[in-house]
Amino acid sequence: MSPGEELKSWIGTHKNEIFANDAVGTGCFSYLPGEVIWAVTTRCNLRCKHCSIAEMSSGEELSTEEGFGLIKDAAKLGPVKFGFTGGEPLLREDIYDLIEYASSFDMQVVMATNGTLITNDVAKRLKKAGLERAAMSIDGIGSVHDEFRGVNGAFERTLRGMKACEEEGVAVQLFTTVTRTNYAEIPKIIQLADDLNLWRIYLIYLIAMGRGKAISEVCLSTDENMKFFDDMVNKQKEAKTWLKPICNPQYWAYLKDAGLVDREDGFEFTGCTAGITRFHIFPNGDVTPCAYLPAKAGNIRERGFLDIVRNSEMFKALRAREVKGQCATCKYKRICGGCRSRAYATSGDYLAEDPVCWLGDR
Ligand code: SF4
Ligand code: SF4
Repeated sequence: MSPGEELKSWIGTHKNEIFANDAVGTGCFSYLPGEVIWAVTTRCNLRCKHCSIAEMSSGEELSTEEGFGLIKDAAKLGPVKFGFTGGEPLLREDIYDLIEYASSFDMQVVMATNGTLITNDVAKRLKKAGLERAAMSIDGIGSVHDEFRGVNGAFERTLRGMKACEEEGVAVQLFTTVTRTNYAEIPKIIQLADDLNLWRIYLIYLIAMGRGKAISEVCLSTDENMKFFDDMVNKQKEAKTWLKPICNPQYWAYLKDAGLVDREDGFEFTGCTAGITRFHIFPNGDVTPCAYLPAKAGNIRERGFLDIVRNSEMFKALRAREVKGQCATCKYKRICGGCRSRAYATSGDYLAEDPVCWLGDR
């Protein structure tokens, strides 16, 4: 079988899981009818070199009551995925109450955490509160991870957190930031995910925002990113876990361009979902299209969340895919649209062309 046929076959075999667990659409973070992600705090017990929220959000955190209001509004969008992130969300004392409240609606409730604070008791409480899935980050094995995360012993503690979640019935997925520094670690991380029987890894292109600005030289170049896609397609032939590049919406255009998947496989490509089906709330109530894109559409302390989502000029422009440069004329505009965060990080314009792409007509 050719690599393309093997990938197609893998996707065919895992289709039910993919549809059941994630998305009707397939693209960067994709879930219909939408994803509402609330960064509940900027506080954290780690010092990650690439942290996108560090130095990006100021002002007082939303209170518990304000959080309840946000969750209630989000539920009016339909059965969305509601995610808690940070900083480290477990540093908020009311996190279990917030999860429990979100779980009382028809929503899938998930959390992104560094996992280092999760013992079996914590995992039990999370499960009881209604958490369905925890995403934890691993950027290398052992000391490579610790170096990236700025704290010795972080790797072992995150592994403990993963095992505790699995034991207590909270599903686990991995987040891995892909850079020049840790590129050689990626096969080892995939092996770890296979060994732990995890079903998906989000392989995250480093967007140089927040603290990441200081290490922008480790972001993959266009050529390196293309090689990364080739490597992931080849790796997927043997990996049990689903390898899903994120902050890289042209992965789906690339697969289609190479004839590796098509709509007959049952996938509806959505590409970048920022501001279309994905909405991010910073700790101070600012609403933005994506965690990595700090340009704000409004603040829920000044204007209702649903009003911002439905009527802000920014979200209207993103929904209409009013993108510029090579993204404007690209045949893959609808199914990709370019990473709006990467465009913003590079040019300050969230509608500019995605600077890391070889598929458009330059
Ligand atoms: S802006 Fe980038 S990271 Fe955010 S949803 Fe779009 S492609 Fe993904
Ligand atoms: S040119 Fe833009 S829309 Fe086309 S594939 Fe590249 S990033 Fe996507």
